[in-house]
Amino acid sequence: MKIHLPVTSPPRRPRLLVVDDQPANVQTLYQALAGDYQVFMATGGEQALKVAHEKLPDLVLLDVVMPGMDGYEVCRRLRSDTATADIPVIFVTAHSEADDEARGLDAGAVDFIAKPIHPAIVRARVRTHLTLKQQSDLLRQMAFIDGLTGVFNRRYFDERLQQEWARSARNGTPLALILADIDAFKKYNDRYGHQAGDDCLRRVAHALALGLNRPADMVARYGGEEFACILPETDVAGALELAQRLADLVRALAIEHADGPAGHVVTLSLGVAGRSAHPPGVSLGAESELVAAADRQLYRAKHEGRARVCAELPPAA
Ligand code: GH3
Ligand code: MG
Ligand code: MG
Repeated sequence: MKIHLPVTSPPRRPRLLVVDDQPANVQTLYQALAGDYQVFMATGGEQALKVAHEKLPDLVLLDVVMPGMDGYEVCRRLRSDTATADIPVIFVTAHSEADDEARGLDAGAVDFIAKPIHPAIVRARVRTHLTLKQQSDLLRQMAFIDGLTGVFNRRYFDERLQQEWARSARNGTPLALILADIDAFKKYNDRYGHQAGDDCLRRVAHALALGLNRPADMVARYGGEEFACILPETDVAGALELAQRLADLVRALAIEHADGPAGHVVTLSLGVAGRSAHPPGVSLGAESELVAAADRQLYRAKHEGRARVCAELPPAA
């Protein structure tokens, strides 16, 4: 399976944050690791938290005993903040009593390295934990990705919609939704075969993903040949414009569809609905009503002849 759409960050050198109040220790670790990694450094707890937030390292090597905020506290604070909670922490410590290790594990560390530092051991441990972290990140992402098309799946869509709905209510910002359904896709499969049908789904998904341009916009495979886009901070007029562009992009793929409703190429019908920043009086109530509203517009687009966009315009105030 090729995952390329939602996971867009290009490969980069892993980032490490090395924290120790003794510059000589920082220097030793830097020399051991700088050849393979991008290494950031901090010489105190407060500074470590600041750098961790700014650089979002993939791994932290953390001294336990430091003046001011000690390593345990730094680790706890990293854990308790959602932005940094998943960054693995390895304690680098001269104390190797069982109690110290237990305390470190309680604070959320994944491993210990004993001082004095042996570069080869540090490199091996770092490599292991970076691999584990990458694997768990990938598993988490894969659980949210549609295997056929590589875009987000229905499960992720449901979760994100709930979040965006809540955010829009909290911040008083608009939220729009597009549902897109491939026209006469059953006939496409019948004529060209299921394999070609799958290829068509991939190409359409890809076109939709490329057609969205704001980082917060997302597309998911909603069902068989149906896709859904969540558009935060977008009103219906903006979503309508985008839906039209997505329809054009898919048409421009020029995938032959002899039984299609328009121009013998694969086309979409799209339904658009939105929730305005300040719904007059009653709000739509629940995010499922936004989906239902977009679905009604999709149905209307189908009913009116397919290969078109229909939108629910907000009620006049
Ligand atoms: P309409 O224009 O009204 O949308 O007609 P339609 O034929 O597209 O809609 P219908 O819901 O009748 O049929 C959807 C078809 O999509 C039927 C199903 O075989 C096909 N389909 C659903 N999922 C997949 C898939 O993963 N791969 C392939 N190749 N086809 C799929
Ligand atoms: Mg269809
Ligand atoms: Mg359908």
